Amino acid sequence: MAVKRKQQGKRPAGLQPRLAAPAIIFFCLALLAGAVLFFINRDYPEQTYSYSHMAMDTVIELRLQAGSRREAEAVKDEVFAEMERLEALLSRSLEDSDVNRVNAAAGKEAVTVSPETMSLAGAALEYAALSEGAFDPTIAPLLDCWGFLDQRYRVPGPEEIEAVLPLVNFRLLELDRERQTIYLPEAGMSLDLGGIAKGFIVDRGLAVLSRAGIRHAFLNAGGDIGLLGTRPDGEPWRIGVRHPRVENSLMAVLPLNGGAVVTSGDYERTFELKGVRYHHILDPATGKPAAQLASVTIIAPTAMEADALSTAVFVLGPSRGLALVEQLPGIEAVLVTPEMEVLVSSGLKDIIEHQQ
Ligand code: ADP
Ligand code: MG
Repeated sequence: MAVKRKQQGKRPAGLQPRLAAPAIIFFCLALLAGAVLFFINRDYPEQTYSYSHMAMDTVIELRLQAGSRREAEAVKDEVFAEMERLEALLSRSLEDSDVNRVNAAAGKEAVTVSPETMSLAGAALEYAALSEGAFDPTIAPLLDCWGFLDQRYRVPGPEEIEAVLPLVNFRLLELDRERQTIYLPEAGMSLDLGGIAKGFIVDRGLAVLSRAGIRHAFLNAGGDIGLLGTRPDGEPWRIGVRHPRVENSLMAVLPLNGGAVVTSGDYERTFELKGVRYHHILDPATGKPAAQLASVTIIAPTAMEADALSTAVFVLGPSRGLALVEQLPGIEAVLVTPEMEVLVSSGLKDIIEHQQ
């Protein structure tokens, strides 16, 4: 110890500043590098993160622009959790859902439901009225006749269809907004929000993203697409309208900034018996699959509107369907007929890019 002290003590005084200068410069440079890195990270953060998730009987695809992987993961978890929470309320195939509880009490009593179920059932009734019953949230008994609930597909006879048709009538559905209850007054009636729920859930997913400060996102739940802002590079998103008969082929491309795009197609959930193909969008007027169109794509401010209208217009057919779309501000449509002819609403004529 003594020796050391002696050596330190012997160090010429002039050496001290020469040693200190590089240390100070090094320290300053490190500080500068830290500051630069900090600002680079703050001002130049955006990167696209992509996720997929199974829910609502389909693959949900989410692309979002975020500052870091950690931020993206946290938001994505919140989005998928919110979507699953709503599915658990609105699905007819999940046992404890609000919809199932309402159905189990048909003809017996009104059932208290969550605010989300109440508001979606209310919206469904509005679309039912708007489409004069082409869209009908009480379609379920008819879907069950065709085996769409348990996937034991069959073609019901005319008497069977006749017997259930009186149970398909949205005008009978009783919503009590004050008590927050839903009542199906006839035994055998049953609620199915399948034609509108996916869109509603996509909107709620986008709301989570938006609240988290995300400005660019793409959320696709099996053909129900919600868009947040433009594409990250500021260009419009390019959304394809698929060919109803040829896999991986497009009929058209739609350049869009925000909003929603939803397609209902006769190729989505189908079964074939004796060479005839049947699908899951039923016409409440005939009790059979609607056959006037092969697909309907609706563009709307929200995915809920687009979802309900895609099903409604599919059932209404080309002339009544397009007439309805033309009458609604902010709504546009691309219809594909069974002959693969493409019909376009007036507001889209100048922006649609035909591919066929
Ligand atoms: P997807 O579910 O394939 O996206 P849609 O949005 O068109 O397609 O919804 C079809 C679903 O809507 C059916 O599975 C059924 O639950 C329900 N549905 C079928 N026909 C009607 C109808 N006429 N009105 C309301 N809902 C319907
Ligand atoms: Mg729909």
